[in-house]
Amino acid sequence: MPEIHDIAIIGGGITGASVAYFLQGQRSVVLLEQEASLGYHSTGRSAAEFTRRFHSPAAGQLTQASTTFMMQPQAGFTDVDLLRPRGNLLIAEAEKADHLRKVYEQERANTPAGAPPVELLTVEQALAKMPFLDPDWVKAAFYDPDCWDIEVENLLQSYIRGAKAKGAKVRQSAAVTAARRDGDHWVLETASGEIRARTVVNAAGGWADPVAALFGAKPLGLTPHRRTAISVKVPGYDVSAMPEVNEIDEVFYFKPDAGQLMVSPADETPVAPHDAWPEELDIAYAAHYLSECTTLEVSHVAHSWAGLRTFASDRLPVIGFSGQVPGLFWLAGVGGYGIQTSPAVGQIAAALLTGADMPADVAEAGVDPALFSPSRFES
Ligand SMILES: Cc1cc2nc3c(=O)[nH]c(=O)nc-3n(C[C@H](O)[C@H](O)[C@H](O)COP(=O)(O)OP(=O)(O)OC[C@H]3O[C@@H](n4cnc5c(N)ncnc54)[C@H](O)[C@@H]3O)c2cc1C
Repeated sequence: MPEIHDIAIIGGGITGASVAYFLQGQRSVVLLEQEASLGYHSTGRSAAEFTRRFHSPAAGQLTQASTTFMMQPQAGFTDVDLLRPRGNLLIAEAEKADHLRKVYEQERANTPAGAPPVELLTVEQALAKMPFLDPDWVKAAFYDPDCWDIEVENLLQSYIRGAKAKGAKVRQSAAVTAARRDGDHWVLETASGEIRARTVVNAAGGWADPVAALFGAKPLGLTPHRRTAISVKVPGYDVSAMPEVNEIDEVFYFKPDAGQLMVSPADETPVAPHDAWPEELDIAYAAHYLSECTTLEVSHVAHSWAGLRTFASDRLPVIGFSGQVPGLFWLAGVGGYGIQTSPAVGQIAAALLTGADMPADVAEAGVDPALFSPSRFES
């Protein structure tokens, strides 16, 4: 008799990896990734930022619920810090200076539990943090100390290592191309042979809607949005300890990355799921924004890339059993915050899959998992 797994997870990005980990061996699990390497798509292309501010209430709660895990992971999970302090400098040009001060007041009044407050800076203080900002452009600034770099690859591999230690199997180069029902379970055709599972978790990121269609489920309107980043050298400066910089309305942002500056024009262009690449115009915008607000001459783009941020129409994740198709579980739509919320998202999914209580961190942060039910798009 062929083996029937309890759960097959489609997608080897951070979302699929986190639920594989948080299932903690309570079910037999196989994770299927179409690419040769895990994290090849969105997960490997992020800005690797962890911040509890500047989100919708639900995304902020999911991040808050992930904080303890990120700061003090369970013993043996990883041997490096998952978060490293970065800090975030919010800047505005003259016409948005009053707006920035309003945002500062709001953020100060709504400081997340356990986070240090934001600090209003003079332009001179902002320049002390990042000396190549252009004082002719920057007219207002505040600083958020509660912004961290995430060790994304380490987080991903730690989830996978932990899942494997509890018996999960991981199959790479195993694109799921078709699905059929056989009695009480699904039979998945993959590039590396048939896989049988009673429940299938759709953690396929930008491909979540087309993957659901393989099971006969109606698409939920999960739309990938392309986001571009470039990397530029900053001769004469050691950027490693400098903060991330965000235009106050996130028209653009940049941050130190491996000795260079990663710059994004914060684009979000709806696209079909694909192996995303950057458009020349978005690369040019990124370089333009950086040269506008700094004294740097951006003459050479060392590297550029793009990735998919996949959203439902209400920008909330979709986590829960399909109401249309038996044994199909949605785990998608984590948009622009899927890395930093992966501890909470993975734990919510694992609890729903096993019928367990929601973990304390999730309840304490005020997260209402019912908000994420696919049923909101199924009627
Ligand atoms: C430029 C950029 C900056 C970002 N910055 C941040 C940030 O600072 N902080 C943050 O938290 N998030 C950030 N994000 C968002 C974050 O990267 C995503 O939310 C997260 O990576 C989504 O993970 P995922 O596992 O859902 O998707 P993915 O990583 O895309 O994984 C889905 C996987 O499913 C696989 N798959 C699809 N179809 C099939 C199939 N038929 N069979 C088998 N496998 C299949 C794909 O190959 C893919 O590997 C950023 C994203 C981008 C693009």
